[in-house]
Amino acid sequence: MGYYCLRCKRSVEITNEHQGARCPYCGFRALRKERPEEVVKKVKAE
Ligand SMILES: [Zn+2]
Repeated sequence: MGYYCLRCKRSVEITNEHQGARCPYCGFRALRKERPEEVVKKVKAE
């Protein structure tokens, strides 16, 4: 599943959500599903 850390913004793989989502890099306990907001949709400028 695609998660990302709200603190370091790194993508984190959570295999067992029931254990508690936690960032393995910084230890932050707030992970969000899917992608960071930095994913910008490209708009066609014509
Ligand atoms: Zn983190």
